[in-house]
Amino acid sequence: MGPLGHFSLGLVAKPAVPKVPLGILLLATWIFDVLAIAFGLAGIEKGGSAGLPWSHGLFMSVIWSVLAALLTARIYRDHRAGVVVGLLVFSHWVLDFVSHPIPFSSFSWRSWQWSYGHPLPSDLPLLFGGSPKVGLGLYNSISAVEATALELGMFILGSAVYATYVSKQRKAGRSLPG
Ligand SMILES: [Zn+2]
Repeated sequence: MGPLGHFSLGLVAKPAVPKVPLGILLLATWIFDVLAIAFGLAGIEKGGSAGLPWSHGLFMSVIWSVLAALLTARIYRDHRAGVVVGLLVFSHWVLDFVSHPIPFSSFSWRSWQWSYGHPLPSDLPLLFGGSPKVGLGLYNSISAVEATALELGMFILGSAVYATYVSKQRKAGRSLPG
């Protein structure tokens, strides 16, 4: 799933953890893609048929989520903040599990079209290289336009939840930390 879909859950989570800045919540939902870029540049993940076990494997996703939860609980001295951020980090895997594999991976500016390679095989490893790969493949069966509409819809709903929260806080005269 793309950033808009992931970010929508960060927006929805804000009212549950007023202490944690929105930017941290959004980053939490997208951290696996940041890791994928970093691991790709470092040569740790090669992608392709090996998948992305260190950033998107189920096993490592659980490890990263627990680490994020512990770190957040410590920084904010708040168990709930830790649990929410840990769940947001793990939500990336859940949304990717539903949507992956993503077949419209290249966009041509010349023809203004996504190139499709349907259907792709599942690409989220359970453990590391060579382990079974999973993914329900929603984006294998819908178009890039439909996928974009879905993510935009999720983002708009998330923004509405966030905007409602902000206006309530303003009315109550509370200042917002981020
Ligand atoms: Zn991802």
